[in-house]
Amino acid sequence: MGMRVTFWGVRGSIPCPGPTTVRYGGNTACLELRFDPDDRLVIIDAGSGIRELGESLLKRDLPRGPIRTRIFLSHTHWDHIMGFPFFTPIFIPGTEIEVYGPVSYEEDTLEEIVGGQLRYRYFPVRLEELQAKLEYFQLKEGQKDLGAGLTVTTKYLNHPILVLGYRFEYQGRVFCTAYDHESFRNVFDVQPDQPGYDPEAVREGELAAKEENEKVARFFQGADLLVHDTQYTAKEYQKKKGWGHSTFEWAINAAHKAGVKHLVLFHHDPLRTDAELAALERAYRKAMEGKTSLRISVAREGTTLEV
Ligand SMILES: [Zn+2]
Ligand SMILES: [Zn+2]
Repeated sequence: MGMRVTFWGVRGSIPCPGPTTVRYGGNTACLELRFDPDDRLVIIDAGSGIRELGESLLKRDLPRGPIRTRIFLSHTHWDHIMGFPFFTPIFIPGTEIEVYGPVSYEEDTLEEIVGGQLRYRYFPVRLEELQAKLEYFQLKEGQKDLGAGLTVTTKYLNHPILVLGYRFEYQGRVFCTAYDHESFRNVFDVQPDQPGYDPEAVREGELAAKEENEKVARFFQGADLLVHDTQYTAKEYQKKKGWGHSTFEWAINAAHKAGVKHLVLFHHDPLRTDAELAALERAYRKAMEGKTSLRISVAREGTTLEV
């Protein structure tokens, strides 16, 4: 048996429950990764979806003994950490949690950023009152052996703050995350009729963006499962440049080129309705028919994928 990935939160920016998000879900990012031996648990991101994951752990894991897990944060934007105070295992004695993630400003520790949500001004319980044993580890680009045959490689992505993509490998199988991430762009993209146009700078900018995008593609090369940011369509993106999110088109092309087997479209815009997501999935599958062996799915809460 390899890895199993369950989706507990699939949205970006803010939870958006309601009649138009019932099918795909309205919680922000949270993934559960299970691998053998003994059904070990890794959590990726602590968006609002982690609340329901916590409830499931109480039923499924707690009867077998104290909950022990590692939480890997892609980054510390609020939609990726807001569920942490509502993750019930932190209130249970015996729980042990290691929290890993990147930190953009060295003077802010992960404990202050994540745990700082547990203060009286925001929440009725303070961090000091938690029953669980919590440890925090700042991550940079690199590789880590997580024991029992699982390794993780991290890669910086393109976003307004530091973000890490994760590449988990277990028994030759690869599961990758690439969000929140905007395809690298030419930062010197000045048109010839604009003041400040410098052809040399434009060329260099193009080259630098291409190289960075190739590095990201190498990072998810050959992945069995890739969960990728697709907050915008190419058309919507025209007004969202620099916001730190990808388009469906970019994710699909990059995954195809990198020989990814299954691409899961993720970090849905809060405005995106169920009907729109279903239509986009149909349209992109049809457009790619016969052109690629890449499987394309829209991330949906409550589903589990075998990797
Ligand atoms: Zn986000
Ligand atoms: Zn973000």
